[in-house]
Amino acid sequence: MLDEFLSLPRVAYFSMEIALRNEIPTYAGGLGVLAGDTLRSAADLRLPLVGVTLVSRAGYFRQEIDSGGQQIERPATWDPARWAQRLDAKVAVRIEDRPVWVSVWLYVIESRMGGRAPVLLLDTDLPENREDDRQITHYLYGGDEVYRLEQEMVLGFGGVRILRALGFEISAYHMNEGHSALLGVELLRHFTYPADDVRPGEAPYDLPRTRDLCRFTTHTPVEAGHDRFSYELVKRLFASSVYDRDNHEAPKPGQPGPEYGPIGFSVLTSLGGASELNMTQLALSVSDFVNGVAKRHAEVSSKMYPGYQVRAITNGVHPYSWSAASFRELYDRFVPGWCHEPELLGRVHGIPDASLLEAHAKAKQALIDKVHELTGVVLQASVATLGFARRMTAYKRPDLLFTDLTRLRSVAHEHPVQIVLAGKAHPRDAEGKRLIALLHERARELAGALPVVYLPDYDLDLALLLVSGADIWLNTPLPPLEASGTSGMKAAFNGVPSLSQLDGWWVEGCIEGVTGWAIEDAASLYEKLAHTVLPLYYGYSGDPRGWVRLMKATIGTNAAYFNSQRMMRRYATEAYLR
Ligand SMILES: *Cc1c(COP(=O)(O)O)cnc(C)c1O
Repeated sequence: MLDEFLSLPRVAYFSMEIALRNEIPTYAGGLGVLAGDTLRSAADLRLPLVGVTLVSRAGYFRQEIDSGGQQIERPATWDPARWAQRLDAKVAVRIEDRPVWVSVWLYVIESRMGGRAPVLLLDTDLPENREDDRQITHYLYGGDEVYRLEQEMVLGFGGVRILRALGFEISAYHMNEGHSALLGVELLRHFTYPADDVRPGEAPYDLPRTRDLCRFTTHTPVEAGHDRFSYELVKRLFASSVYDRDNHEAPKPGQPGPEYGPIGFSVLTSLGGASELNMTQLALSVSDFVNGVAKRHAEVSSKMYPGYQVRAITNGVHPYSWSAASFRELYDRFVPGWCHEPELLGRVHGIPDASLLEAHAKAKQALIDKVHELTGVVLQASVATLGFARRMTAYKRPDLLFTDLTRLRSVAHEHPVQIVLAGKAHPRDAEGKRLIALLHERARELAGALPVVYLPDYDLDLALLLVSGADIWLNTPLPPLEASGTSGMKAAFNGVPSLSQLDGWWVEGCIEGVTGWAIEDAASLYEKLAHTVLPLYYGYSGDPRGWVRLMKATIGTNAAYFNSQRMMRRYATEAYLR
């Protein structure tokens, strides 16, 4: 069942989270959704990739919200046997010098265009493992730092070994964020120089060969997004897999065994940082190609990591997955070939206005129905709907829209507005949880003036309903912390313009008044809503075709560009073929 994927060399795409489908809760947010879109595009374009991730049997979590606006986290357990096939391979990763056995499931992404992409899900839940080791691959972003380092050892060391055990020939290793950086250490251990080529006192590892194989995509300038581990912990968990010149024998050069040799401690510190093991630093050190996920983000990252060239490959979203059913039908009819070549959406101007508006009306009704089902609130199809949904965390500033309630009430008094919100906070992000509670409080305060609803348990399905059913997509991050942001790109596939802070992708995507609008702060947000956006929406601007023209420009300019087909063609030509 694996043979079809072994016939040619593949790029191994490593990611701690991958959003495979709504029923499989192995993702927490944008990073995982992007990883899923990457592999979905690889399947569409028949690019030879193989995804590698943890099986995360207990998922991230299912979100409930109590009447006080407090987030409640429920387990999101899933059964891999229902969606994937267990493969006949098993490797050991040594943690504190005990073997932790890692098995693997195969999930196959099937493209609408016939292509297929394999994804390997690593699983330590085996009877031969200790009870606690069986849980290493259970909880996505759960547990403490010991648990996290164990997970990253299984992903980085175990992932490379599983690929070898299954017979994959790997042409490049692509690290989606630093969580998988230990794969570089695994490759180094394997690529030792022959003894004769090593001068005394020099590490026997072939760093150039490793760098030649590795690519690294960094995804966030936010400090908390970069894993760091104390060397005390690293030494404890690596145990005899790391040697110190002071008290251990160096490995014999040129002799990688099936378990490979240990790694020198001085090599780890020189690659991963002197005072602690910084996974971003390690990934930078072992990779020959490094990129950020938007032009602005690459600039910010270049300043953060002096001495490294950080290129920009701006993110994109998967065309088919992020178009509502009514838009898929519309594009199939008027823009055949759009799934393979979304550039064709530049031809959106040939679609009759009425057909486009009808597709949007259907998507909006689907959202209104869902809001009713989940909250009992009845929204109006004729009222301008603002959508905001993403991970709830401080830098995303979900409360910016609610800075001045008096002002917001008066905006809504002049031009009716309704607001739909959603998003999960990481279980340990107290500020994110406080923001969820605050948004619920604001919704109550605004009752009677304008409807504000918060939909629980944001996931892929809800995201599609929101980005296609809203009329205006809002994003208010604190610059420069939004590396890219992708939900606004999803909105673009459904003709929904963005009203956003100029940060991340929006620096490239915003053409003022054509694809949406830029804002700087709460004051400019209210100002633009009241005097530009809502008058245009309601046709008070003296331009009856104004809104539909904006919808078409959003599709023809932004969906045509900010898609994962373009993104993967760039990774293929600039990062993989080197
Ligand atoms: C797209 C998506 C995200 C990321 O959205 P941003 O705008 O990048 O914050 C997060 N969660 C889900 C479920 C998504 O579909």
